[in-house]
Amino acid sequence: MARSRQPLIAGNWKMNGLRADALALARGVAEGVKQAGWTDREVLVCPPATLLMAVAEAVKGSGVLVGGQDCHSNASGAHTGDISAEMLRDAGASHVIVGHSERRTDCGETDATVRAKAEAAWRAGLLPIVCIGETLAEREAGRTLQVLETQIKGSVPAGATAAKLVVAYEPVWAIGTGKTPTVAEVAAVHAHIRKILGGLMPDANVVRLLYGGSVKGSNAGELLAAGDVDGALVGGASLKADEFLAIAKAA
Ligand code: PEP
Repeated sequence: MARSRQPLIAGNWKMNGLRADALALARGVAEGVKQAGWTDREVLVCPPATLLMAVAEAVKGSGVLVGGQDCHSNASGAHTGDISAEMLRDAGASHVIVGHSERRTDCGETDATVRAKAEAAWRAGLLPIVCIGETLAEREAGRTLQVLETQIKGSVPAGATAAKLVVAYEPVWAIGTGKTPTVAEVAAVHAHIRKILGGLMPDANVVRLLYGGSVKGSNAGELLAAGDVDGALVGGASLKADEFLAIAKAA
Protein backbone atom coordinates (compact mmCIF):
# COMPACT_ATOMS: atom_id res chain seq x y z
CA MET A 1 0.00 0.00 0.00
CA ALA A 2 1.15 3.53 -0.73
CA ARG A 3 2.72 5.46 2.13
CA SER A 4 0.89 8.46 3.44
CA ARG A 5 0.60 11.05 0.64
CA GLN A 6 3.18 9.21 -1.45
CA PRO A 7 3.15 10.99 -4.83
CA LEU A 8 1.25 9.18 -7.56
CA ILE A 9 1.91 9.96 -11.21
CA ALA A 10 -0.85 8.46 -13.31
CA GLY A 11 -0.96 8.34 -17.10
CA ASN A 12 -4.37 8.24 -18.77
CA TRP A 13 -3.79 7.00 -22.32
CA LYS A 14 -7.47 7.50 -23.17
CA MET A 15 -8.54 5.97 -26.54
CA ASN A 16 -5.02 5.96 -27.96
CA GLY A 17 -2.68 3.21 -28.96
CA LEU A 18 -2.68 0.02 -30.94
CA ARG A 19 -0.75 -2.94 -29.59
CA ALA A 20 2.71 -2.22 -31.06
CA ASP A 21 2.90 1.44 -30.05
CA ALA A 22 1.28 0.86 -26.69
CA LEU A 23 3.65 -1.92 -25.79
CA ALA A 24 6.64 0.16 -26.85
CA LEU A 25 5.35 2.98 -24.64
CA ALA A 26 4.74 0.61 -21.73
CA ARG A 27 8.22 -0.85 -22.07
CA GLY A 28 9.75 2.63 -22.26
CA VAL A 29 8.00 3.71 -19.06
CA ALA A 30 8.88 0.45 -17.34
CA GLU A 31 12.54 0.74 -18.29
CA GLY A 32 12.74 4.34 -17.04
CA VAL A 33 11.05 3.54 -13.74
CA LYS A 34 13.25 0.51 -13.21
CA GLN A 35 16.40 2.51 -13.88
CA ALA A 36 15.31 5.32 -11.59
CA GLY A 37 14.61 2.83 -8.81
CA TRP A 38 12.10 5.14 -7.14
CA THR A 39 10.69 3.92 -3.85
CA ASP A 40 9.21 7.27 -2.85
CA ARG A 41 6.59 7.63 -5.59
CA GLU A 42 4.18 5.51 -7.57
CA VAL A 43 3.86 5.45 -11.34
CA LEU A 44 0.64 4.21 -12.91
CA VAL A 45 -0.40 3.78 -16.54
CA CYS A 46 -4.04 3.42 -17.61
CA PRO A 47 -4.13 1.97 -21.14
CA PRO A 48 -7.26 1.25 -23.17
CA ALA A 49 -9.01 -1.85 -21.83
CA THR A 50 -8.06 -3.91 -24.88
CA LEU A 51 -4.39 -3.50 -23.98
CA LEU A 52 -4.58 -3.84 -20.23
CA MET A 53 -3.42 -7.44 -19.99
CA ALA A 54 -0.61 -6.98 -22.48
CA VAL A 55 0.58 -3.79 -20.79
CA ALA A 56 0.41 -5.43 -17.36
CA GLU A 57 2.61 -8.21 -18.72
CA ALA A 58 5.02 -5.74 -20.36
CA VAL A 59 5.63 -3.74 -17.17
CA LYS A 60 5.83 -6.75 -14.85
CA GLY A 61 8.70 -6.47 -12.37
CA SER A 62 9.33 -2.78 -13.09
CA GLY A 63 7.18 -1.36 -10.30
CA VAL A 64 4.87 0.36 -12.79
CA LEU A 65 1.22 -0.03 -11.80
CA VAL A 66 -1.61 -0.54 -14.26
CA GLY A 67 -5.15 0.81 -14.08
CA GLY A 68 -8.41 1.00 -15.98
CA GLN A 69 -9.95 4.20 -17.34
CA ASP A 70 -13.49 3.39 -16.26
CA CYS A 71 -15.59 0.51 -14.94
CA HIS A 72 -19.24 -0.47 -14.73
CA SER A 73 -20.81 -0.42 -11.30
CA ASN A 74 -22.03 -4.02 -11.54
CA ALA A 75 -19.76 -7.02 -11.23
CA SER A 76 -21.24 -8.82 -14.25
CA GLY A 77 -24.42 -9.08 -16.27
CA ALA A 78 -26.28 -7.79 -19.30
CA HIS A 79 -24.31 -4.60 -19.97
CA THR A 80 -23.11 -4.90 -23.55
CA GLY A 81 -19.78 -3.24 -24.15
CA ASP A 82 -19.08 -2.50 -20.51
CA ILE A 83 -16.26 -3.76 -18.31
CA SER A 84 -16.53 -4.46 -14.60
CA ALA A 85 -14.03 -3.56 -11.93
CA GLU A 86 -13.58 -7.29 -11.30
CA MET A 87 -12.60 -7.77 -14.96
CA LEU A 88 -10.05 -4.97 -14.71
CA ARG A 89 -8.60 -6.54 -11.60
CA ASP A 90 -8.51 -9.93 -13.32
CA ALA A 91 -6.61 -8.34 -16.23
CA GLY A 92 -3.92 -6.97 -13.91
CA ALA A 93 -5.24 -3.58 -12.79
CA SER A 94 -4.76 -2.18 -9.31
CA HIS A 95 -6.45 1.19 -9.91
CA VAL A 96 -9.33 2.59 -11.91
CA ILE A 97 -10.14 6.15 -12.97
CA VAL A 98 -13.80 7.01 -12.38
CA GLY A 99 -15.74 10.13 -13.28
CA HIS A 100 -13.28 11.56 -15.78
CA SER A 101 -14.83 14.71 -17.26
CA GLU A 102 -14.81 13.11 -20.71
CA ARG A 103 -17.06 10.34 -19.39
CA ARG A 104 -19.20 12.79 -17.47
CA THR A 105 -19.68 14.70 -20.76
CA ASP A 106 -19.63 11.92 -23.39
CA CYS A 107 -21.59 9.35 -21.42
CA GLY A 108 -23.71 11.57 -19.17
CA GLU A 109 -22.19 10.19 -15.98
CA THR A 110 -23.59 11.85 -12.88
CA ASP A 111 -22.04 12.10 -9.42
CA ALA A 112 -24.25 9.17 -8.39
CA THR A 113 -22.87 7.05 -11.27
CA VAL A 114 -19.33 7.94 -10.30
CA ARG A 115 -19.98 7.10 -6.68
CA ALA A 116 -21.38 3.67 -7.66
CA LYS A 117 -18.30 3.05 -9.79
CA ALA A 118 -15.98 3.98 -6.91
CA GLU A 119 -17.88 1.52 -4.72
CA ALA A 120 -17.50 -1.11 -7.45
CA ALA A 121 -13.76 -0.48 -7.45
CA TRP A 122 -13.65 -1.18 -3.71
CA ARG A 123 -15.74 -4.32 -4.16
CA ALA A 124 -13.16 -5.59 -6.67
CA GLY A 125 -10.14 -4.55 -4.62
CA LEU A 126 -9.16 -1.64 -6.88
CA LEU A 127 -8.17 1.86 -5.80
CA PRO A 128 -10.51 4.40 -7.43
CA ILE A 129 -9.20 7.71 -8.72
CA VAL A 130 -12.28 9.93 -8.52
CA CYS A 131 -12.10 12.87 -10.94
CA ILE A 132 -13.72 16.21 -10.33
CA GLY A 133 -13.35 19.58 -12.01
CA GLU A 134 -15.19 22.70 -13.09
CA THR A 135 -15.94 23.82 -16.64
CA LEU A 136 -14.77 27.16 -17.99
CA ALA A 137 -18.28 28.61 -17.66
CA GLU A 138 -18.44 27.54 -14.03
CA ARG A 139 -15.01 29.03 -13.36
CA GLU A 140 -15.93 32.30 -15.04
CA ALA A 141 -19.11 32.46 -13.01
CA GLY A 142 -17.00 32.17 -9.86
CA ARG A 143 -18.58 28.82 -9.00
CA THR A 144 -15.47 26.59 -8.94
CA LEU A 145 -15.42 25.81 -5.22
CA GLN A 146 -19.16 25.28 -5.04
CA VAL A 147 -19.10 22.93 -8.07
CA LEU A 148 -16.26 20.91 -6.60
CA GLU A 149 -18.00 20.61 -3.26
CA THR A 150 -21.13 19.24 -4.95
CA GLN A 151 -19.07 16.80 -7.02
CA ILE A 152 -17.10 15.59 -4.00
CA LYS A 153 -20.17 15.09 -1.83
CA GLY A 154 -21.96 13.27 -4.65
CA SER A 155 -19.08 11.18 -5.98
CA VAL A 156 -17.15 10.03 -2.92
CA PRO A 157 -18.80 7.00 -1.30
CA ALA A 158 -19.48 6.72 2.41
CA GLY A 159 -16.73 4.83 4.18
CA ALA A 160 -13.88 6.47 2.26
CA THR A 161 -10.46 6.53 3.86
CA ALA A 162 -7.12 7.76 2.59
CA ALA A 163 -6.04 4.18 1.85
CA LYS A 164 -9.12 3.58 -0.30
CA LEU A 165 -9.36 6.77 -2.32
CA VAL A 166 -7.45 9.09 -4.64
CA VAL A 167 -9.09 12.30 -5.86
CA ALA A 168 -7.96 14.02 -9.06
CA TYR A 169 -8.76 17.70 -9.55
CA GLU A 170 -8.96 18.29 -13.28
CA PRO A 171 -10.33 21.65 -14.40
CA VAL A 172 -12.19 20.72 -17.59
CA TRP A 173 -10.87 23.82 -19.37
CA ALA A 174 -7.29 22.75 -18.68
CA ILE A 175 -7.59 19.24 -20.14
CA GLY A 176 -5.74 18.96 -23.42
CA THR A 177 -5.67 22.74 -23.92
CA GLY A 178 -2.17 23.65 -22.77
CA LYS A 179 -3.76 25.98 -20.20
CA THR A 180 -3.34 25.49 -16.47
CA PRO A 181 -4.46 27.34 -13.37
CA THR A 182 -1.71 29.24 -11.57
CA VAL A 183 0.21 27.34 -8.92
CA ALA A 184 -1.50 29.50 -6.27
CA GLU A 185 -4.93 28.62 -7.68
CA VAL A 186 -4.09 24.91 -7.68
CA ALA A 187 -2.90 25.12 -4.08
CA ALA A 188 -6.03 27.02 -2.99
CA VAL A 189 -8.41 24.63 -4.75
CA HIS A 190 -6.63 21.55 -3.39
CA ALA A 191 -6.77 22.98 0.15
CA HIS A 192 -10.51 23.49 -0.35
CA ILE A 193 -10.93 19.92 -1.64
CA ARG A 194 -9.07 18.54 1.36
CA LYS A 195 -11.27 20.60 3.66
CA ILE A 196 -14.48 19.28 2.07
CA LEU A 197 -13.14 15.73 2.24
CA GLY A 198 -12.44 16.37 5.93
CA GLY A 199 -16.18 16.34 6.51
CA LEU A 200 -16.55 12.98 4.78
CA MET A 201 -13.64 10.86 5.94
CA PRO A 202 -11.51 10.45 9.06
CA ASP A 203 -8.07 10.99 7.50
CA ALA A 204 -8.54 13.54 4.72
CA ASN A 205 -5.28 15.16 5.82
CA VAL A 206 -3.40 12.28 4.18
CA VAL A 207 -5.65 11.38 1.22
CA ARG A 208 -3.87 11.84 -2.08
CA LEU A 209 -5.05 14.69 -4.28
CA LEU A 210 -3.77 14.71 -7.86
CA TYR A 211 -3.78 17.69 -10.17
CA GLY A 212 -4.62 17.02 -13.83
CA GLY A 213 -4.84 19.28 -16.87
CA SER A 214 -2.02 19.98 -19.34
CA VAL A 215 0.72 18.70 -17.05
CA LYS A 216 3.99 18.23 -18.95
CA GLY A 217 7.66 17.86 -18.13
CA SER A 218 8.28 21.59 -18.15
CA ASN A 219 5.49 22.59 -15.71
CA ALA A 220 5.34 19.47 -13.53
CA GLY A 221 7.92 20.73 -11.03
CA GLU A 222 5.97 23.80 -9.99
CA LEU A 223 2.51 22.21 -10.16
CA LEU A 224 3.59 19.19 -8.11
CA ALA A 225 5.25 21.43 -5.53
CA ALA A 226 1.98 23.29 -4.89
CA GLY A 227 0.50 22.82 -1.44
CA ASP A 228 -1.84 19.83 -1.07
CA VAL A 229 -0.81 18.35 -4.44
CA ASP A 230 0.22 14.69 -4.19
CA GLY A 231 0.80 13.84 -7.81
CA ALA A 232 -0.63 14.25 -11.27
CA LEU A 233 -3.12 12.70 -13.63
CA VAL A 234 -1.58 13.11 -17.06
CA GLY A 235 -3.27 12.73 -20.43
CA GLY A 236 -1.42 13.80 -23.59
CA ALA A 237 2.04 13.86 -22.03
CA SER A 238 1.65 10.28 -20.83
CA LEU A 239 1.77 9.06 -24.42
CA LYS A 240 5.50 9.75 -24.68
CA ALA A 241 7.68 7.76 -22.31
CA ASP A 242 10.35 10.48 -21.94
CA GLU A 243 7.82 13.21 -21.21
CA PHE A 244 5.90 11.05 -18.75
CA LEU A 245 9.09 10.00 -17.00
CA ALA A 246 10.14 13.66 -16.73
CA ILE A 247 6.88 14.34 -14.88
CA ALA A 248 7.46 11.34 -12.60
CA LYS A 249 10.98 12.62 -11.94
CA ALA A 250 9.60 16.01 -10.91
CA ALA A 251 7.30 14.45 -8.33
C1 PEP B 1 -6.75 14.08 -18.60
O1 PEP B 1 -7.51 13.93 -19.53
O2 PEP B 1 -6.89 13.42 -17.56
C2 PEP B 1 -5.68 15.05 -18.75
C3 PEP B 1 -5.17 15.55 -17.66
O3 PEP B 1 -5.32 15.37 -20.02
P1 PEP B 1 -4.11 16.33 -20.46
O4 PEP B 1 -2.93 16.02 -19.59
O5 PEP B 1 -3.86 16.00 -21.89
O6 PEP B 1 -4.58 17.73 -20.25
